Amino acid sequence: MRASNKTKADCEETGMMKISEAIKERILIGLITLLSGAIGVLLTSIYKDAAAPFLQNVMPAINNKTLLLLCLLLLLIILILGTWIAFLVFGDKTKRIMRKYEFVKTRGFYVHRQTGGKICANCLISNGIESPLTPSVVAGNRFYWECAILACGRKYEMKSQEVKESNFE
Ligand SMILES: [Zn+2]
Repeated sequence: MRASNKTKADCEETGMMKISEAIKERILIGLITLLSGAIGVLLTSIYKDAAAPFLQNVMPAINNKTLLLLCLLLLLIILILGTWIAFLVFGDKTKRIMRKYEFVKTRGFYVHRQTGGKICANCLISNGIESPLTPSVVAGNRFYWECAILACGRKYEMKSQEVKESNFE
């Protein structure tokens, strides 16, 4: 993202978003802490109630391999739950960013609803990144709107009117 292309309103909006992102991260950390705390309490109470009979009757029947598999399964469940929570918190980030933009079907990119700034559709859809398009020229006579992110490098056709306005000549 290039700071030079930003308007004051954009900066304020980004600032506000950063604050809400920080709040969301705190909520996520809180949720995870709460969840692990709850699991801990639950496990402790289960352990207190069931440990003795469990150790006497069940443990000898379970071999180490089964125990290892159970641990792996538990780890997998924790991973899935963690991913799910992260998805819930951060998943709508892309959607929220995308609401600021409008897709231009005939051009293939997005434009900001207020400023009209052009944004790479590939970066916005796949990663939720607001990558401004910059005018670029190939072989001195082919003009494009090019994505500012090198790894993407997506090019969009530039209209002759836009070529004139981009100060290439
Ligand atoms: Zn891009």
